[in-house]
Amino acid sequence: MSETFPPQSWTGIDDVVVVGGGLAGLFCALKLSPRPVTVLASAPIGRGASSAWAQGGIAAAISDGDSIDKHLADTLEAGAGTVDEKIARGMVAEAGARIEDLLRYGVPFDRDLEGRLQLSREAAHSENRIVRVRGDMAGRAIMEALVAAVRATPSIRVLEGFVVEELITEGRYVAGVVARPNFGKARKRIAFSSRAVVMCSGGVGHLYAVTTNPFEASGSGFGMAARAGAVIADPEFVQFHPTALDVGLDPAPLATEALRGEGAVLVNRDGHRFMLDIHPDGELAPRDVVARGVFAELRAGRGAFLDCTTAIGSHFPTEFPTVYGYCQAAGIDPVRQPIPVAPAVHYHMGGILTDAEGRTTLDGLWAAGEVASTGVHGANRLASNSLLEAVVFASRIAANIQGLLPSPKLTPWPASETPSDDVVTEEDSPALTALRSLMTAQMGVLRDGEGLARALASIDQLEKSNGRTRFVNLVTAARMMTAAALRREESRGGHYRTDFPVPREAWRRRTFMTLNEADRIVDRAMEGIEA
Ligand SMILES: Cc1cc2nc3c(=O)[nH]c(=O)nc-3n(C[C@H](O)[C@H](O)[C@H](O)COP(=O)(O)OP(=O)(O)OC[C@H]3O[C@@H](n4cnc5c(N)ncnc54)[C@H](O)[C@@H]3O)c2cc1C
Repeated sequence: MSETFPPQSWTGIDDVVVVGGGLAGLFCALKLSPRPVTVLASAPIGRGASSAWAQGGIAAAISDGDSIDKHLADTLEAGAGTVDEKIARGMVAEAGARIEDLLRYGVPFDRDLEGRLQLSREAAHSENRIVRVRGDMAGRAIMEALVAAVRATPSIRVLEGFVVEELITEGRYVAGVVARPNFGKARKRIAFSSRAVVMCSGGVGHLYAVTTNPFEASGSGFGMAARAGAVIADPEFVQFHPTALDVGLDPAPLATEALRGEGAVLVNRDGHRFMLDIHPDGELAPRDVVARGVFAELRAGRGAFLDCTTAIGSHFPTEFPTVYGYCQAAGIDPVRQPIPVAPAVHYHMGGILTDAEGRTTLDGLWAAGEVASTGVHGANRLASNSLLEAVVFASRIAANIQGLLPSPKLTPWPASETPSDDVVTEEDSPALTALRSLMTAQMGVLRDGEGLARALASIDQLEKSNGRTRFVNLVTAARMMTAAALRREESRGGHYRTDFPVPREAWRRRTFMTLNEADRIVDRAMEGIEA
């Protein structure tokens, strides 16, 4: 762990505080260099981050036959009518430049015999455009390179095991963060005053019982920004990965989409290829369609399996070493046996609303990566567009902060230790376990109005039973996601309502919501239950 100063005696003002040490956070810190940056990460950087687990890669329209228009068209198609086209065009246009940056930071992307970047195909992409590393090792390799680059950059101070719990606000202005050291177990909390805060805390997977995300992806940054008054966008849109390994592990290991890209097929226990009955693209249909197809087979008791034996067979260990390792650990030989799979929460399209420069609705707060909602994913993310989004917007935030840093305060704020009695203990676990079960049951692949209203009532009870700041952040995220899902009376992208199973034109728009608005929806829902 690289604590480069004793935090308890820290009395200065941090220029920029980055919350999170995943791809978005580290890339932003590197891009800000040589400007001084403090990265606060709840886990050692390179661990506890979805970024390190990415198996596919980064989408970039850089082959001869590909174009920005084609990548944009695929992004719009996947997003089911609510992508912000201008922002998405800007993102896909920048992909080549950001891949160049990553190469400069030392990421060993796969190359062909002539030294050109090797590009592969993933579901819902019309061209081969996924930049990968050694098959399914992209996330790990990218993070290894960035962690090394960050550790070699003297302007970046990394404080690991610091769990940020709150934003410090002065009116609409975000003036720093409050964090609890020692992996959140310390009694004392430390205030970090800063001129700019960049929230890069990742997704919401661990609000659910079945997820591919690491424990740290718990919606805490989303919750604390909402509590500080930030506008949240599209919180109801959650992407379920259709093919997590169904072997009873938490988090659930992922069987990458690239397997289906290589021709692996989904079958039930009878060997029937059920996706062909559901969508003309079969296994390569959009993720939400495949997730519902897999869910339906499981619910009908027919089982769901990813059969790689013919398409990949003996190449499996060398081409997909990560998935092969997971299978081996679970006693499955994917060369000869179909892999049992289930849908799992994988990605959150919603989050803190940002503009094209990554600015949130609160002055002094920027957001990048999965915690942000830039509008590029609409109601459903195109595979491998999220790592791209992380680097594009992290880079823009760095440029924006360089050009627009809020005026420095004339008097330095003394950093303070905020005395706190709300020490996080194991007692958090039952409430969190209950919340996760609730979210999987009522805010999962299939939702309906009655279940969502009851979920909101239960969330309210859970919040009353546990008022600790860290839990309140998580409950706030869950409450806003569920309130937005109740309000959106249609089905679109990652949001499927059995009581409103088709898209409705009136709802072909994004959701924007403050915590106060969510509270009003909750109040109305509770009145409905009591009536
Ligand atoms: C298994 C898996 C495979 C994936 N494959 C791909 C893929 O191939 N291509 C693709 O584009 N996308 C993929 N994704 C999605 C992609 O990995 C994520 O969207 C992206 O990595 C998010 O990056 P991030 O920096 O926003 O968050 P993360 O990488 O999750 O990092 C978040 C950071 O914030 C820290 N943190 C969280 N809360 C706090 C707090 N309160 N205080 C301090 N620190 C905090 C965490 O410790 C971590 O350091 C995949 C996701 C998973 C789970």
